[in-house]
Amino acid sequence: MTATIIDGKQIAAETREKVKEAVALRVSKGLPVPGLATVLVGENPASKVYVRNKQKACAEVGIHSIGVELPGDATQEQVEAKVRELNEDPTINGILVQLPLPAHLDEEKILATIQLGKDVDGFHPINIGRLAQKGRTPLFVPCTPAGVMVLLERAGAKLAGANAVVLGRSNIVGMPVALLLVKANATVTICHSRTRDLAGVCRQADVLVAAIGQPEMVKKDWIKPGAVVIDVGINRIEDPTSPKGSRLVGDVAYEEAAEVASAITPVPGGVGPMTIALLLQNTLHARELADLNTQK
Ligand code: NDP
Repeated sequence: MTATIIDGKQIAAETREKVKEAVALRVSKGLPVPGLATVLVGENPASKVYVRNKQKACAEVGIHSIGVELPGDATQEQVEAKVRELNEDPTINGILVQLPLPAHLDEEKILATIQLGKDVDGFHPINIGRLAQKGRTPLFVPCTPAGVMVLLERAGAKLAGANAVVLGRSNIVGMPVALLLVKANATVTICHSRTRDLAGVCRQADVLVAAIGQPEMVKKDWIKPGAVVIDVGINRIEDPTSPKGSRLVGDVAYEEAAEVASAITPVPGGVGPMTIALLLQNTLHARELADLNTQK
């Protein structure tokens, strides 16, 4: 078997185009454009790149964005005060606090300060709580996990009744992906660093989502023939043959896994591009929610 490649780059481009068209339509009707504020605390170089990319993506689809930067020694009160200020700003519909925050800050409290209707990253404890509860719907779903679900849908994965295995239980990827799969009626197993016989558990999976940050750990013989494999991992490994001396790989040994899976995401070009596309979609949704509130 040779797997179908799930082209996240293309699917993300389609999502971005749809958002761009919706924003242009709003402008043509004289409606306010959506606005996103990113909040960056400190000098983490990777976070700076992520924030810059998010703002660039906003500009490309016509979403207004502002970048708030606070020093690495900002106090809890200063960060919360900034978030409260953005809560009150009618030109801002989405507030994204870039994670991870410096260790002295209470992440949960800061995320809880974001107004629920502006929680475009979906990490507010109430949105995550709703994701975990049967019959409840969060206002926003975290972007990377939402992107995973879009890719599964586009790959034609049958989720109801399927055995789904999620490798990783982080707050930002593994756990919300698992909760979304449960909502989609899959039977879900969540694996982590204490799981016994990881390979054996993975072999039961009709749908396998890897989010562990371990380069190419998932091998061909871990994969059930015909499984759909979504690789969230982004790992930089040394590669003397590459001009940069390194390259990006996922958590799955892609070439060999593609010989047994029915469909698989590449790294790069799989889940990665979906995150920003879904952030833009969530920001548009936040603007639409704000429209409803002003109509009341
Ligand atoms: P974390 O480090 O927060 O979580 C990793 C999870 O994997 C933990 O639950 C950990 O278990 C588990 N784990 C780690 N090593 C092993 C192992 N050897 N065997 C079994 N389980 C293991 O990572 P994130 O969830 O933030 O990110 C995961 C990957 O996804 C990373 O490569 C990251 O770069 C990538 N990523 C990609 C995004 C995108 O595409 N846009 C967005 C976010 C992340 P335990 O809980 O027991 O410690």
